[in-house]
Amino acid sequence: MSTQIEHYLNGSRHSGAGHRRGEVYDPATGRVTGDVGFASEADVREAVAVATGALPQWAATTALRRARVMFRFRELLERDADSIVRIITSEHGKTLDDARGELMRGMEVVEFACGIPHLLKGEYSESVGTGVDSWSLRQPVGVCAGITPFNFPVMVPMWMFPVAIACGNAFILKPSEKVPSASLRLAELLTDAGLPPGVFNVVHGDRETVDALLDDPGVSAVSFVGSTPVAEHVYRRASERGKRVQALGGAKNHAVVMPDADIERAAESLVGAAYGSAGERCMAVSVAVAVGEAADPLVERLAARVRVLRIGPGNEPDVEMGPLITEAHRRRVLDYIDIGVEEGSELVVDGRGVSAGGPGFFLGGCLFDRVTASMRIYREEIFGPVLVVVRVPDLAAAIRLVNAHEFGNGAAIFTRDGASAHRFAQSAQAGMIGVNVPIPVPMAFHSFGGWKHSLFGPLHVHGPDGVRFYTRLKTVTGRWPGEEGVPGEFVMPTMK
Ligand code: NAD
Repeated sequence: MSTQIEHYLNGSRHSGAGHRRGEVYDPATGRVTGDVGFASEADVREAVAVATGALPQWAATTALRRARVMFRFRELLERDADSIVRIITSEHGKTLDDARGELMRGMEVVEFACGIPHLLKGEYSESVGTGVDSWSLRQPVGVCAGITPFNFPVMVPMWMFPVAIACGNAFILKPSEKVPSASLRLAELLTDAGLPPGVFNVVHGDRETVDALLDDPGVSAVSFVGSTPVAEHVYRRASERGKRVQALGGAKNHAVVMPDADIERAAESLVGAAYGSAGERCMAVSVAVAVGEAADPLVERLAARVRVLRIGPGNEPDVEMGPLITEAHRRRVLDYIDIGVEEGSELVVDGRGVSAGGPGFFLGGCLFDRVTASMRIYREEIFGPVLVVVRVPDLAAAIRLVNAHEFGNGAAIFTRDGASAHRFAQSAQAGMIGVNVPIPVPMAFHSFGGWKHSLFGPLHVHGPDGVRFYTRLKTVTGRWPGEEGVPGEFVMPTMK
């Protein structure tokens, strides 16, 4: 039976007027489980009108009261964690433990947003002139839109809306049409937590819905996370219309393994980072850079571990890796494996035969060795359970490789040597660096974002950059009544 998945507007579910629809799958069985309506231009206009209507009162609500809604929201997320985790796994396919980890990382952003009265404290300078003080305010931007990818149905939206809402904005979420249900649960819990209707809304859809949001003059800011071509499109189109934009794109994260590293532990870390969530993570390690004599023992250990990965439905115990998101995506990853073989790299572990015993979108872990920088399987994002090993002679060559790549989301080094780690952290061109940490995702009170073609726009998400993105800075300069008057001045004012 297939569930009808609706939008969420003004505090309740809403079917919308759009005629276009999409199918939602359970990737572990390959069966259609949901039918999602896509918002038309008129639906988007209605969502923007609802959010615009709710905005003034919410923006005028004190930061303390806004924080209290976040505190209650956090409690409800904890109460309903099991059911939210099951929704994630049923539409995405990742294991229940992985889904729980995703929810926890999202909840940490809510915890960060609970501190909004402190985060919005401005700066104050007294006596910038005789009887004159100057202070800054951070005020909401207005109606904000969030457009999110399939791979984190809960965490990526929660990188955005808790901070946006706590800052006093209204928000419209356009989640991935492949995993639309979790966002409706989040919307209901926000309403139950006391968020006024219209402050948080969800519209489903694909490109047409996104473009309607980008074009709507009522939307002031757009946060996007997804693939690089779409990130560029969103960044350009929304910027041209005068909106502030942060658009996070794709990745090809390198992990450099030095000969002095604990190779056993590095290999174990890389397997989790490359094949967890079937490689469908923006911070997945997809390139292992083996330095000098680290290469042979590293490949040997990786291969041994990848061959025994436990693959199956995400809701079964002890499974390490679930299916891919759709059959189309599975075919795309399979094409890359064929390309890698044609390009002349060595397919050490071939996961193509793995089916996990059913019609789901499963693929086994694949490991390529002796990959070079000119090969497509190195240059392009595959977003599947495929790890490529590039062999280089020394750290300098490893850093050159990392820095020459189009993407710069995360990069990690495994070493016991402080000088190598420091040199790498200083010179690697990526937004997030790990030292003996394979997936260096910053905590909620820091900001998340990449460099190069992994991020378009100056500001990262959540943490201090999140507050900057979702607020406008205003600086007030005031002379207090009763202080000596100043005659009209015709020259550029200076403070005396
Ligand atoms: P995607 O780019 O296909 O879709 C992302 C969102 O954009 C979805 O909501 C989708 O409906 C919408 N969209 C798709 N095509 C569009 C178009 N032509 N015009 C306007 N909107 C469009 O990405 P995906 O397949 O859902 O997610 C995987 C990608 O996301 C990977 O490239 C991954 O690296 C990236 N990602 C990046 C980060 C990061 O932090 N940098 C985090 C998670 C995922």
